[in-house]
Amino acid sequence: MAFDKKLLDILACPACKGKLQYNTQGAELICRFDRLAYPIKDNIPVMLENEARTLSLTELEQLEK
Ligand SMILES: [Zn+2]
Repeated sequence: MAFDKKLLDILACPACKGKLQYNTQGAELICRFDRLAYPIKDNIPVMLENEARTLSLTELEQLEK
């Protein structure tokens, strides 16, 4: 089963409490404000700052499209 996008309405970034964006390519949840990408493991988002990776500016720009 694919990641349920309805979860995006419920989930928030643990760092800034902001909205998250689903990155279909990387199966990650993106916080633009913190430039963090939270991994999705077995369709379950891992909402931990120490599990998130930092996005490069190039990656952020690609998300705009
Ligand atoms: Zn954030």
